[in-house]
Amino acid sequence: MAECSRLILPQNGAHGVLIAWQERFSEVPAALKTPRHQHTVVPVLDLEIGGNEFVTMAGPCSVETEFQLMATANHVRRCGARILRGGAFKPRSSPYAFQGLGLAGLKMLAHARQESGLAIITEVMSECDVPMVAEYADILQIGTRNMENYALLEAAASSGRPILLKRGMMATIADLLRSAQIILDAGNPNVILCERGIRTFETAMRNTFDIAAIALLKQISHLPVIADPSHAAGHRDLVSVLARTAVAAGADGLLVEVHPCPEKAWSDGDQSLDFNGFDDMMADLEPWLGLRREALHQHRRLELRPMEAVG
Ligand code: PEP
Ligand code: MN
Repeated sequence: MAECSRLILPQNGAHGVLIAWQERFSEVPAALKTPRHQHTVVPVLDLEIGGNEFVTMAGPCSVETEFQLMATANHVRRCGARILRGGAFKPRSSPYAFQGLGLAGLKMLAHARQESGLAIITEVMSECDVPMVAEYADILQIGTRNMENYALLEAAASSGRPILLKRGMMATIADLLRSAQIILDAGNPNVILCERGIRTFETAMRNTFDIAAIALLKQISHLPVIADPSHAAGHRDLVSVLARTAVAAGADGLLVEVHPCPEKAWSDGDQSLDFNGFDDMMADLEPWLGLRREALHQHRRLELRPMEAVG
């Protein structure tokens, strides 16, 4: 720790948006920083996403059983997670794979929320389901396969719930920001961007974690950025190190899959951490979160100065 404390994390976006980036992303003005709007802070229950706190959202890929969900909620809460994730509607690569419990899964999430006090994030896949999912979720997740489903984005936006927008697996940063712009234009300011890995020629990992996208998004956009190391890696032994790089690149939090018994998970077991794995990841992150706190402190001090450097 003595060694680490000499390191300083980059202060992303400290000097506002450079003109070249502003020109390149000129079709998404609502998503870009301006001298007056440097950070969007998304309120979720008593939490703020995009504020000072690094927010960990953790839980199973799919909601399976009351026991599975409650055991996970209690464990991740004890170890520092603030939001419980879990899919009740599952977009799966195979049409024959488990598609989620639907309404029964949402009810289990509501019960876990009540018992644990954790906020809930869960995916909505269809515009018809938005009113029902919004009744149970504190944050609506738009999945990678739906990032460009504009009808869904507009319906989700008008629910008034904060929206976590996952980057499409074949979407550019401009595509992601265009979808964010749709939600902002629909009158919902509470958009959270999520980097979850993209498809490249590399096949050793499930996806390629685009760490530079996190750094760039933090430079140019006022929206919070969350990293999903689980879907990026596809292998649980890489999740912790990807999480660490996400902190270093300036992410505002994590979305991570945790299961009491990953070998028996109904979906995404290979990339899910067990409880010990989650504890190890959180412990491993602590020195990096210390650096982040230090960088934020310095950044905020600089921001109090006159903004002569803002482009
Ligand atoms: C998920 O979060 O379980 C999920 C399906 O994510 P993605 O849309 O990124 O594949
Ligand atoms: Mn998953």
